[in-house]
Amino acid sequence: MDLKADFCVVGGGPAGLTLALLLARSGAAVVVVERSTSMEREYRGEILQPGGLRLLAELGVLDGARERGCHEHSRFRFVDRARALVDIDYRRLPGPFNYLLSIPQRHLIEELLAAIQRLGVTYLAGHRVSELITEDGRIGGVVAGGPDRRQVVRAHCVVAADGRYSKTRQLAGIEFDRRDVFDHDVLWFKIPCPAGDPPDVRIFRAAGNPVLVYRSFPDSLQVGWTLPHKGYRAMAEQGIDHVKARIADALPPYAGLIDSTLTSLSDLTLLDVFSGTARRWAADGLVLIGDAAHTHSPIGAQGINLAVQDAVALHPLLMASLRAGNPSADLLGPYVAVRRRDVAAIMRLQVMQSRAMLSQSPVAAALRPRAAKALSRTPVFRKVLHRLAYGNKDIRIAADLFVTD
Ligand SMILES: Cc1cc2nc3c(=O)[nH]c(=O)nc-3n(C[C@H](O)[C@H](O)[C@H](O)COP(=O)(O)OP(=O)(O)OC[C@H]3O[C@@H](n4cnc5c(N)ncnc54)[C@H](O)[C@@H]3O)c2cc1C
Repeated sequence: MDLKADFCVVGGGPAGLTLALLLARSGAAVVVVERSTSMEREYRGEILQPGGLRLLAELGVLDGARERGCHEHSRFRFVDRARALVDIDYRRLPGPFNYLLSIPQRHLIEELLAAIQRLGVTYLAGHRVSELITEDGRIGGVVAGGPDRRQVVRAHCVVAADGRYSKTRQLAGIEFDRRDVFDHDVLWFKIPCPAGDPPDVRIFRAAGNPVLVYRSFPDSLQVGWTLPHKGYRAMAEQGIDHVKARIADALPPYAGLIDSTLTSLSDLTLLDVFSGTARRWAADGLVLIGDAAHTHSPIGAQGINLAVQDAVALHPLLMASLRAGNPSADLLGPYVAVRRRDVAAIMRLQVMQSRAMLSQSPVAAALRPRAAKALSRTPVFRKVLHRLAYGNKDIRIAADLFVTD
């Protein structure tokens, strides 16, 4: 039997579930279509910034997600050959959300999922969207392959929240402009967290390529070693001992742990990291949010925060479009305009950060300490920090639309 809803959200990640919760609390009938059958899927990104934390707290899901396990981090540090060139103390920001939160994405997803299911949202797990339904010149639903049969979902508006390789975006014929400004791949792995390790998010630069390190729940260090795009294969051909030695050179404080923990290349996951934006974020009957609209490198931990803010910014417009019975791209225009501007600002900052921290050129290496010291004393630095920590502060939850807790 076909399902009918006000909104069909494709993708049960942070963007899709946050939006589903906002819409359901406003009395809309929502179907979420998620291709995974369980919570055992690949997640990337665990660091939440203060702006995202505030919105999730206001939505009533932060405490429950935290109770499932997390770590607070008080500082971000960029350590260049044992010298901290950048040392940002989040505790200096106004409370209560004056910290970075390292929380397994699964904990956030489980909490959001429990909240939408309490509100009667239909969650189709194990359903992969494969077709869009077009009616009267606009998108009017999706077809999703499920475990037993295909399911048709008709809706006033379809929301593509299906991540950076968005199938929905592709089916709608919307092109994606990939920007390889990050120009690095990331080798992602965990090692045990030593007792007394500082509660900081850090990027280390020593010999070799920069490395991101932070404490991950329950008791490990998440390590992201950046390496030149497509450079891993040649290195891996020389075997695990060679790779281990290179990582240990890049991360001297943890050399012993790296040596004892990594035993084979299968302990390491190579990630193709890129950024980019979709050419259009709305069509009649369709709107894109989160990574489906704009994809980010991990630099500055922005993706989940932007995804949550997208959902909050879009919610009142979708409710207005439902009331008006008009899911046209024009009506969703204000969301697209505001968020394109916000995302462009963040992308510019991420490019700056990449160049400043990751560049291997001898000139950059020589200038880096003085430039970092000079910049950290300027008002620009504070402005940049606030943008990264809070995103667009004007984006507020339209709680006046809620008809239920
Ligand atoms: C290495 C790395 C580290 C990162 N670190 C951080 C960080 O610390 N902090 C941060 O804020 N961000 C980080 N990010 C970015 C962050 O992970 C993403 O921006 C965020 O997950 C986007 O959320 P989303 O809901 O838009 O998409 P996703 O989280 O990708 O969710 C999309 C969902 O859609 C589902 N789906 C896909 N296709 C279909 C289909 N055809 N039918 C049905 N369902 C489908 C998927 O299963 C998934 O559940 C990182 C990214 C990378 C690559």
